[in-house]
Amino acid sequence: EFAEISLKDIDRVANSSFPLCMRHLFEKLREDHHLRYGGRMQLGLFLKGVGLKLDDALAFWKSEFSKKVGPERFDKEYAYSIRHSFGKEGKRVDYTPYSCQKIISSTPGVGDHHGCPYRHFSEDNLRAALSKMGVNSRAMDDVMDKVRNRHYQLACTLTFEAIHGSSCDAGINHPNQYFIDSQKILQ
Ligand code: SF4
Repeated sequence: EFAEISLKDIDRVANSSFPLCMRHLFEKLREDHHLRYGGRMQLGLFLKGVGLKLDDALAFWKSEFSKKVGPERFDKEYAYSIRHSFGKEGKRVDYTPYSCQKIISSTPGVGDHHGCPYRHFSEDNLRAALSKMGVNSRAMDDVMDKVRNRHYQLACTLTFEAIHGSSCDAGINHPNQYFIDSQKILQ
């Protein structure tokens, strides 16, 4: 069961309740007005799970992609796959958002922004991203310790706890679970 968000809330909730993997995709999309396929799938299905309706999703992606490729090319090349991921095209499969395990085991190439930052970022980039999220230096050491031992979901759990000032006993297994647990604390 997922909460619901509308388009006007998206930047606010991205900043407060998205896990790092989705923050990164969201920021890159806002910055580059483009994401490659792996990123579009990872972020798009997450946003669907968060409760963004199809019309809002189309408006959201179109507003960014139009700045790069123009609205006509968006309608022609990209809108279909968004409707498709909502089960509105082709075989009408209603795709589910990716779990942490699936994201961690993905293999982003050069120019891709999907994947799990705890696994796929360099140490320097990860530290910078975490401090931007508000993780203090003591918590940072604990997070980096988990990363070095390849406990990426535990690193994400410690990040969650550090920035919410609240424990997350179940641990983080899914980006949408991170979002829901965060909203529960913040609302
Ligand atoms: Fe995203 Fe899961 Fe990685 Fe956290 S552990 S950043 S929720 S994939």
